Amino acid sequence: MNSMDATLQAQLNLRREEHLYRTRLNVASGCSSTLSVEGRSLINFCSNDYLGLASHPDISLALKQAADLYGTGSGASHLVSGHSVVHQKLEEQLAQYTGRPRALLFSTGYMANMGVINALVGRRDLVLQDQLNHASLLDGGRLSQADFKRYKHVDMASLEQRLEQSSAERKLIVSDGVFSMDGNLAPLSEISTLAKKHNAWLMVDDAHGVGVLGPQGGGLVEQLGMNLKQVPVLVGTLGKSFGTFGAFVAGSEALIETLIQFSRSYIYTTALPPAVAAATLASLKIVRQESWRRDKLVQLVTRFRRGAEQIGLQLGGSNTPIQPVLINNDAKVMQVGQSLRDAGFLVGAIRPPTVPVGTGRLRITFSADHSEEQVDQLVAALDSLNLRAAI
Ligand SMILES: *Cc1c(COP(=O)(O)O)cnc(C)c1O
Repeated sequence: MNSMDATLQAQLNLRREEHLYRTRLNVASGCSSTLSVEGRSLINFCSNDYLGLASHPDISLALKQAADLYGTGSGASHLVSGHSVVHQKLEEQLAQYTGRPRALLFSTGYMANMGVINALVGRRDLVLQDQLNHASLLDGGRLSQADFKRYKHVDMASLEQRLEQSSAERKLIVSDGVFSMDGNLAPLSEISTLAKKHNAWLMVDDAHGVGVLGPQGGGLVEQLGMNLKQVPVLVGTLGKSFGTFGAFVAGSEALIETLIQFSRSYIYTTALPPAVAAATLASLKIVRQESWRRDKLVQLVTRFRRGAEQIGLQLGGSNTPIQPVLINNDAKVMQVGQSLRDAGFLVGAIRPPTVPVGTGRLRITFSADHSEEQVDQLVAALDSLNLRAAI
C-alpha cells in the first residue's frame, strides 16, 4: 500500500474498533412504508418522508411531464441560464406558503445552511447556535469566520449569557425548529424575544417541522404564528416531508437579494432540474390541502408512545414523528438495530458523532403511509428484544 492508503486504513481500522464504522444499504425499491433490501421486505421506520409523498403518483406524474417539457438537467447555475419559469413559480408559491415576501430555492438543505450563514456574517460578527443543531448549520457557522459559539440545548439562560458577552457588529442566532435527532421543539418565542432584546438576527432551520406542523404544514413557525419580524430567516427542506429534493429560504426582499448576490453555495452550483421543481409544486399542493396526513401522523405517534411506555422503553420528550428510544450504551445501539432488522424492521441506529457520546439511540420515524398495525408490530418487536436491560 502507498503511504496515503496505509494512513487511511489505520484510521478506518480505528473507526471499526470504536464501533463507529458506517455502511450503506442497497435499497431496491422506492421510498415507502416498506423497503426492499437484499431481497427482503422491511418495514421502514427510518426515512424522513413524514407525509408519505416520496412515492406519490401525482408527484411522479408532474416530474415526468415536466421532464418531457424541460429535459433532465437545468444546464447551468441560476445566475447564468439555469433559472427556469418553473423554479420561479415554485419560489413564488413557497413565499406565499410561508407568509414571507420572497423565497429562494437551494439545491440541498446542507447548501442552504452553509450559504445563508456565510452570506449574513463574517469576521467581527457572532454566530450563536444550539448545541444540538444540525451538522450543516454547525459547519456553516465554522466556515463563516465569525466568532462561533454554541449554547446549551434549548437553554435560554445560556443563550442570553453569550449574547450579553458580545459586542459584535452583527449577531446571528441559529436554531433547528424541530431537532433532527430528538424530535423536540426549539422554544422559538423565547429565542425571538432574546433576539429582539439583544438586537440579534434569528435563523430557523425547520427541516423536520415543515409539512408536519401547523394547519397547512407551514412548520413550527406557522404553528406558533411567528411573523417575518420574529423569524426573519426561515429555512425549509424539500427532501423530507415534500418527498422531492432541494431546499428553500424564505424572508424579506433584502434577505433574498443578499443571498442571490453573496451566497456562494447558491451562486456556484447548478440549479435543480426544473422537473424536480415541477414535482415540488405538485407536492406543495398536497402538503397544504391534505391535512389528514398530519392528523394521521399524530395518531400513529400517540399510538407508538403509548405502546412503548407500556413496555418500559425510555422515550424522549417528543410529540413529532421523530421518536428516539435511548439505549444508554453506544456500542449496543448497532446490535439492537441489527436485531430489529432481522425481525423485519428498519430503524435508524444513531451513534456519536451524530449525537453526543453516551446518547446512542434508535431513531424511529413515522410516516402518514404507515398503518396502525405496522406500529403495533414494531412495538411487539421492541418488546421481544427485552430492551429494558439495555437502558
Ligand atoms: C436534513 C437536514 C438538513 C439538510 O437538508 P438536505 O436537503 O438533506 O441537504 C438541514 N437541516 C436539518 C435540520 C436537517 O434535518
